[in-house]
Amino acid sequence: VSSVPPDADEWLELAGRRLRGAGLKSGAARNAVIEHLAREGGCLLSAQEIALGLREKGPGSNASVYRTLEQLTELGLVHRLDGADGVARYEVAHPDHHHHHFFDERTGEVVAFEDDGLEKAIADVAKRLGVELTSHDVILRGRSSQRDS
Ligand SMILES: [Zn+2]
Ligand SMILES: [Zn+2]
Repeated sequence: VSSVPPDADEWLELAGRRLRGAGLKSGAARNAVIEHLAREGGCLLSAQEIALGLREKGPGSNASVYRTLEQLTELGLVHRLDGADGVARYEVAHPDHHHHHFFDERTGEVVAFEDDGLEKAIADVAKRLGVELTSHDVILRGRSSQRDS
């Protein structure tokens, strides 16, 4: 699954602000990862895929990719999802909008979706519980009924 994240420039700005706020100096390796994510990190890229994408444009080590992804996840700039296959995948976390995923257990395919009704339901639950949500995860798993085996 790959898609161009919306508002890439906005996210880049946010990333720069949060990294500076966290006192992290900018480095070429990390900037390369961040710029790659801004362009192509719209939905679920593994660290390996990111490293491969970077290698096409220049040198980059897997270790620096993993370290950067860890930092970005901690700063809330990137969402990390652990797949059933044991592989962690990442996508940019945009403050204004996000999407969720359906994992097809038969084909391994991942379908991204947005649903205003779902978001409203989650907000309503938070209100009822009297909590302020900082994030939420929704993962649907199953089999697509729209295709033959
Ligand atoms: Zn996604
Ligand atoms: Zn949501």
